Amino acid sequence: MTTNRVRKGVIRGRMAASGESYVVAARRMAVPRGAKAPDARTAAALRTRYWEPAESFDVPCPCGGTCAPGERCERCHATCRHAARVPGSRVDVEVWRDRYDCTGCANTYSFEVTLPDRPWGVVRTVPQRGGREPIVRVEVFEGVDHPDPPR
Ligand SMILES: [Zn+2]
Ligand SMILES: [Zn+2]
Repeated sequence: MTTNRVRKGVIRGRMAASGESYVVAARRMAVPRGAKAPDARTAAALRTRYWEPAESFDVPCPCGGTCAPGERCERCHATCRHAARVPGSRVDVEVWRDRYDCTGCANTYSFEVTLPDRPWGVVRTVPQRGGREPIVRVEVFEGVDHPDPPR
């Protein structure tokens, strides 16, 4: 049951990211009756957003192996680990922000990455009447939590 395992992983990642209980996170993940199942791009964005950091450096990073290796901590010289990924821009749907946590102390750092294959949303151009300039609207995929969402 790969699908179920992926779903559980997404739910656990959501719990870790939001502090919700499993039940709450699972309910929020549930697709409302009559709603469309998430499309492939939304599912990919959810997998990119919600995952748990790897237990050890021997396994590939659960983010999908799209991150840079963690740097060595300047303070304690332990290796930093990819810990979270959130949308990192309000206009560029391919930009994510990766956070790295030191495995030896409380040190943390983050930087932006561009993932063209894994956008967190979609850019729509809405035509306007009367020859006015079309409005460009950025929409976050359903269920993807954006720390500073576009309006
Ligand atoms: Zn990673
Ligand atoms: Zn450290």
